[in-house]
Amino acid sequence: MIGTIVIIGASAAGVAAAMTLRDEGHIGDIVLIGAEEQLPYDRPAVSKELLLAGTVPPILTADRYAELRIDLRLGVTVTAIDLTGGRVLLGEDESITFDRLLVATGGKPRHLPVPGAELDGLHYVRNARDGLAIHTGLRPGMRVAVIGGGLIGAEVAASAAQAGCEVDWIEAEDRCLARVLPAPLADAMMAVHRGHGVRIHSNAAVVRLHGDTAVEAVELHDGRQIAVDIVVVGIGIVPETALAEAAGLAVDNGILVDPFCATSVPGVYAAGDVARHQSRYMPVAGRLEHWRNAQQQGAAAARAMLGRGEPYHELPWFWTDQYTHHLEGCGLARPGDEAVLRGDPASGSATVFHLRDGALVAAVTLNRANDVRGAMRLIERGVTPSHDVLSDPTQDLHKLGKERVRGAA
Ligand code: NAP
Repeated sequence: MIGTIVIIGASAAGVAAAMTLRDEGHIGDIVLIGAEEQLPYDRPAVSKELLLAGTVPPILTADRYAELRIDLRLGVTVTAIDLTGGRVLLGEDESITFDRLLVATGGKPRHLPVPGAELDGLHYVRNARDGLAIHTGLRPGMRVAVIGGGLIGAEVAASAAQAGCEVDWIEAEDRCLARVLPAPLADAMMAVHRGHGVRIHSNAAVVRLHGDTAVEAVELHDGRQIAVDIVVVGIGIVPETALAEAAGLAVDNGILVDPFCATSVPGVYAAGDVARHQSRYMPVAGRLEHWRNAQQQGAAAARAMLGRGEPYHELPWFWTDQYTHHLEGCGLARPGDEAVLRGDPASGSATVFHLRDGALVAAVTLNRANDVRGAMRLIERGVTPSHDVLSDPTQDLHKLGKERVRGAA
């Protein structure tokens, strides 16, 4: 019988794993360890709702953890994994022995590598404390520079503009959101941001931050200086692999896991942002840094730890909300994929479908969520509608996806 299962990391992957273990009937102890003091919360809210509202709801109440007999250790840092002794160390004197271990340590923000990056007033966005500190600074008229044109940058720029701040959004490449959105949707969203008064500086490198103790200006490569009260940096994350590496797990830009979320060491698993895996939808091993993957992979790891695992092949999916716009995407597009456009990005209603060797592999939408929901079903079943159907906004892919399922059953 499996006894104690220890989970390092009390965020989406860790909490999903703990709940799944109980759902699946595990009766041994579950110890869920998180470095933050507050009850685990869903991180997507940190760069959206928390910035405007100042609060983030917990995933579960403290009572619910107690009911599920999940021993939640908050404000606790694991200092080492002792594989020989089968235990995790908490400081010098305390340790917890485990039968199975899940490492769900996530990632940490990549730091801005320029002089002045240590000044007060510069923020990264990873946890609720970061979000709360930014929330406090987002007051009407405050000058906010957002560095990095990814999803963090976009969500922070939107929140700051909505809070009445003056926003300068700085991106190294020629287009913001280029990694997550196809060009027509990225362009449409840049126009939306500009429409809300955001000044976008693309092809811009930050070379230095100026200030005495607090940041006062951001200097760009061409000598321009942008006067600021706050700087928020979202230039990517790096996986939190220090514990795993020190313990000797195979690590290479993430903890390497097999399709059952198992690491190179028997009994030790990894899931979420930190886990580098391969799947049907991601033939080249990679890490997925989205909430849904963390949840699903955490649950998959839990089943695998109990010997009831199945290979993890979930179709990647993400969403983001900016102003009143909802964006959603599924699958992983690659350069060279054929793109089929449905709708009109400039009018705020469009979807781009990606085909590889004639097969539908990914879809990203601006305000047409049903297209992506339908595309997910179709991709999972290997069905590719004709170009005419894909490009026609009146065709209900959601319904088509369901019909195909019924037809296939
Ligand atoms: P990201 O998606 O990797 O985007 C970072 C962006 O910053 C990239 O466009 C990058 O350009 C640019 N950049 C890098 N260095 C820069 C510099 N020195 N100056 C200006 N721009 C620079 O990372 P993120 O936005 O920080 O988000 C972190 C992770 O959390 C991502 O994986 C993201 O997908 C995830 N996340 C997801 C959601 C969601 O699902 N809704 C929301 C927030 C965050 P290059 O491409 O040239 O490097």
